[in-house]
Amino acid sequence: MIVSVNEALRRVGEPFPFQWEGELKPQTYAGETVTFVGTAKLAGTYVYDGKTFRVDAEAEASYETTCARCGRPMVETLSFSFSERFVRSVFKTEDDELYPYEGEKLDLTEAFFDNLFLEMPMTTVCSESCKGLCPVCGADLNQGQCSCLTQNIDARFSALESLLNDHKEV
Ligand SMILES: [Zn+2]
Ligand SMILES: [Zn+2]
Repeated sequence: MIVSVNEALRRVGEPFPFQWEGELKPQTYAGETVTFVGTAKLAGTYVYDGKTFRVDAEAEASYETTCARCGRPMVETLSFSFSERFVRSVFKTEDDELYPYEGEKLDLTEAFFDNLFLEMPMTTVCSESCKGLCPVCGADLNQGQCSCLTQNIDARFSALESLLNDHKEV
């Protein structure tokens, strides 16, 4: 995700478009390996203000994950946008929120992944209507209803029944 900015460095204040498409290498995030699927996309503009670059970008990436309800593997696609500034690495200080660049190239990789992981949801579901697994027998309820639910109702019903009977006896 490297963008050549030699033109922009000479034309302060003028926005330049850029576009990148490619495959992403697996990344480690929160102790887990995130594997990407297909082609990721990044497009936007960069403009030089005489000291820093401002990059406005729209991005899209798909990754492998599992459904939080049924546990089946699935692919989640994230679309996100971000706005970041870049400063020549020799001018970068510890506590600025700028990304460093060198020469006449901006490497957007770090900014891309930082923003991707900010957008990544804690949990994903394969479908809003996913029924998940039965908490009792672990059956995938998307494949059909197991017999646990009826048994629970029966159990509650007979408990109620014996309660009523107890009352009768008093
Ligand atoms: Zn699911
Ligand atoms: Zn069950």
